[in-house]
Amino acid sequence: MKIADTVLDLIGDTPLVKLHKVTEGVSATVLVKLEYLNPGGSAKDRIAVRIIDAAERDGLLLPGGTIVEPTSGNTGVGLALVAQQRGYQCVFVLPDKVGEDKRNVLTAYGAEIVVTPTSVAPDHPDSYYSVSDRLAREIPGAFKPNQYFNPNGPLSHYETTGPEIWRDTDGTVTHFVAGVGTGGTISGTGRYLREVSGDTVRIIGADPEGSVYSGGTGRPYLVEGVGEDFWPGAYDPAVVHEVIAVSDADSFAMTRRLALEEGILVGGSSGMAVVAALRAAKTLGADDTIVVLLPDGGRGYLGKIFNDGWMRSYGFTNAPAGHTVADLLA
Ligand code: PMP
Repeated sequence: MKIADTVLDLIGDTPLVKLHKVTEGVSATVLVKLEYLNPGGSAKDRIAVRIIDAAERDGLLLPGGTIVEPTSGNTGVGLALVAQQRGYQCVFVLPDKVGEDKRNVLTAYGAEIVVTPTSVAPDHPDSYYSVSDRLAREIPGAFKPNQYFNPNGPLSHYETTGPEIWRDTDGTVTHFVAGVGTGGTISGTGRYLREVSGDTVRIIGADPEGSVYSGGTGRPYLVEGVGEDFWPGAYDPAVVHEVIAVSDADSFAMTRRLALEEGILVGGSSGMAVVAALRAAKTLGADDTIVVLLPDGGRGYLGKIFNDGWMRSYGFTNAPAGHTVADLLA
């Protein structure tokens, strides 16, 4: 029999799959790790369970407590799963650029959401950081996981994501590429892969053009879940060899190609990471194996990246579309 005791036991051990079409002209092997196959639909399930375990152990979260966190959605889903299983309430603070589909997922798990403007500075009283700090102070029994600074975020990837990649590639991985949001994924996974390989695996961050990790100031971009306008403690710059900046247009075009050409329906930060990987691969040979982490699935973006009207309204005219019936009849 193969039966999980609870849904939390299904977190991690996500598969690697090889890319075939979007890699045309690339000699290296490009593998993607499908984090949307976690039960909450993203890599953030991994950090949620570890952060809550640690908070319970340290007495920061007591029975019946409330979890308060600013989150672009995926961390919220992970935390909501764990909270539901363990009897906690959740309040999530979201920037208004997060799509309605993603908001509705959180409320479906029973969480409360508070939406804040994207266009204000982090220290503004209405910013999603400020609002979540205030709620965490004012709600009795509140615990703020603080994913941007909580060391258990990167640690979860050090303990699970990194070892899975090393095991599943039989130690043949030579490059690891991930988008950088809090920085937890790249810092934890990257640190493990560097250590286990005798420091031969190269760690490459992917970042939206304008974000701090690739030298910007936090200029607005539309890709969700990645890029920052400040330096989070979950990011360890010493782990990362190189950061590649990718435009929204290129990220979204690749996101569509992954669905149309590889059958992989993922979010915009996944498209962004694949663009960065293919750029890095230009100088690599047939002995190289690049693993790209794809953080979440595409269903949260159907009204945006996969919607022609939305894409046109932002001037993204380079995105491929599927065949029309007229094409097929011709
Ligand atoms: N992509 C998406 C869609 C995300 O939600 C996140 C998490 N913010 C990331 C990428 C980046 O992951 P990390 O926070 O570990 O850097």
